[in-house]
Amino acid sequence: MNWPEGHHMAVCLTWDVDGEPAQYVRFPERAANQLSELHQRMYGPNIGLFKVLRLLDKYGVPGTFYMPSYTAQLHPEAAREIVRHGFPIGLHGHLHESLDSLDAEQEEAVLVRSREVMGEFLGYAPTLYRAPSWELNRRTPELLRRHGVLSDSSLMDDEVPYWLETEGGALLEVPIQWILDDAEHWNHSRANRDKAIADPDTVFRLWSAEFDGYYRSGGCYVLTLHPFISGRWAYMAVVERLIRYIRGFPGVWWTTIDEVTDWARRQPDLARRTSPSPTPMDF
Ligand SMILES: [Zn+2]
Repeated sequence: MNWPEGHHMAVCLTWDVDGEPAQYVRFPERAANQLSELHQRMYGPNIGLFKVLRLLDKYGVPGTFYMPSYTAQLHPEAAREIVRHGFPIGLHGHLHESLDSLDAEQEEAVLVRSREVMGEFLGYAPTLYRAPSWELNRRTPELLRRHGVLSDSSLMDDEVPYWLETEGGALLEVPIQWILDDAEHWNHSRANRDKAIADPDTVFRLWSAEFDGYYRSGGCYVLTLHPFISGRWAYMAVVERLIRYIRGFPGVWWTTIDEVTDWARRQPDLARRTSPSPTPMDF
């Protein structure tokens, strides 16, 4: 990768400020009479986010935020505070709808609505997207591009950004992975009580070992975090430890997904792929 200003690799700390809407979509009956999960998720935009922003301020590192538009409407101060920091907010559904549950018409309606609402908070048309639960339909990249979205960060088939060609133009894909997601290690609720909470030291070892590999290969390390999870002290201490660890390596480009997207537009040699699902469907 020809990272800018001679940097050796890129690091993006990304925060999905999901809030409580996902609970309304997934478990509407529980949302009405089981407030524990609803309130656990409200901790993100109410409290966790503000702690996260202070952490980023402390180290002078940027963040990229993704937010369902209804979460922004429910917690306008959270959305405004991100904007005040000058950090980008990408689209993340209206109610955190998983795209595999929507038909084409519904998917487009959600995208249009979320763009309108988030555009009001941002003061400009949003250009970043991350699919709720990272679930894309084959049709999604073309739909995103047609509605002015320039990059997506939901797929897992690489460690560096690449272009996805669509009939509406090219969409930059900035890949992610489950191992680099705090929810997989620490998200715990009454509904998944059987899942153990991971030891914070273990998670630090996983994330730093992944970083070591990305550093050696010059990749784009994208960590996916949630303020309702990593906004908790014990987990935030791991994120802080990781920031300090990465700061010990020279040549790291601390950046945001929109800066990576700008950079990519000036890289004629970046890989181009034609479909998010190249396997023939008629085998
Ligand atoms: Zn999410």
